[in-house]
Amino acid sequence: MASESTRSGEGAGTDRSAPVSALETARRQLEHAAAELDLDPNVVERLKHPARVQRVSIPLERDDGTVEVLEGYRAQHDDVRGPFKGGIRFHPDVSEAECIGLAMWMTWKTAVMDLPLGGAKGGVVVNPKDLSENERERLTRRFAEELRDIVGPNTDVPAPDMGTDPQTMAWFMDAYSVQQGETTPGVVTGKPPEIGGSYGREEAPGYSVAIVVREACKYYDRPVEGATIAVQGFGSVGANAARLLESWGADIVAVSDVNGAAYDPEGLAVQEIPAHDETPEAVTDSDGDAITNEELLELDVDVLTPCAVGNAITGANASDIQADLVVEGANGPVTFAAESILQQRRIPVVPDILANAGGVTVSYFEWLQDINRRKWSRERVNEELEAEMMAAWESIRDEYERRDVSWRTAAYIVALSRVARAHELRGLWP
Ligand code: GLU
Repeated sequence: MASESTRSGEGAGTDRSAPVSALETARRQLEHAAAELDLDPNVVERLKHPARVQRVSIPLERDDGTVEVLEGYRAQHDDVRGPFKGGIRFHPDVSEAECIGLAMWMTWKTAVMDLPLGGAKGGVVVNPKDLSENERERLTRRFAEELRDIVGPNTDVPAPDMGTDPQTMAWFMDAYSVQQGETTPGVVTGKPPEIGGSYGREEAPGYSVAIVVREACKYYDRPVEGATIAVQGFGSVGANAARLLESWGADIVAVSDVNGAAYDPEGLAVQEIPAHDETPEAVTDSDGDAITNEELLELDVDVLTPCAVGNAITGANASDIQADLVVEGANGPVTFAAESILQQRRIPVVPDILANAGGVTVSYFEWLQDINRRKWSRERVNEELEAEMMAAWESIRDEYERRDVSWRTAAYIVALSRVARAHELRGLWP
């Protein structure tokens, strides 16, 4: 099964000499947006910190009988509007600071979508490609045991993220259910549909990226039909976004994965290219000229969608971006420094907390289905996703027009206002 967010494009086009932590970026974005609003400074101060971070060590028995001790985290940022919500990643770059920054983004993402959920993120410092399936299963079950006291359908609901997939969620749900003594599908989302997962969950982050690209194109008077689009990362997010956009008449002129990129100015046949997780060599074996990930990022296209990893566009390469519009498919692909440069160059950046929020939105639908023990059809999921995405897009567009700020600040204003209002109503201190 495909992992939620591709690892493809890793290291590509990134400024590894000056890595920027997700936490640093998230805090700077928060301060920047808070300055636009007349908020209680105590609430803003509170939101710079996670409510809790659980740090665990996980003994993993390898297939050869040796034991390795891995580090894992679950950062719970804010739950004022509902249970903590956010993915679990298996990736060598996972750190406590990264989990906290990503958890903050989840708080804004659920608030932008007006879902009754908060923000969290977890992860294990490991390269899942180095593990056998049995090792991944043992790791997931042990991680679920370590987190048992702090997760649950009414407290904190994990989901897939980089390096994890529906099978990972199935193991997590099973381990938790066995410990609880009852089948509890609502403890995680992104499960296979046969055991309480939602139809359309897997495609949802990519679909929401496509919907946001379509609306942003329309906003800038450039219909999606005939628009030229470069997609960095051809995992679940990038591949689903590219295929939907192509079906609407866009020309997907370039796609990439960790091995490199393919380019065809007339448009690639993306429906026929398997996602990176299905066939790792598919992008580089496809028709189209071979170019590098760096070259893909710098193509002169209508829309660039970085759907691979964080920090793809940094202060080092932002001046070379030629796209008219950037829509963030990955979490945090544009650093704070890069965004300032793009803003000076009048290249709008539509942020991740809106564009890839289809994932958590369909996670919410899945959670509702689990709680109600009632399955929705794929048509219903996609229709409701479209409606939720349009409502979020419209509220952000209104702030964008009213306040003359960046798209990201407009999205933060929508999210922060909702989170801060909930804190005000409930009271910051018990
Ligand atoms: N990992 C996804 C994200 O970053 C989805 C989280 C969820 O569904 O809870 O948005």
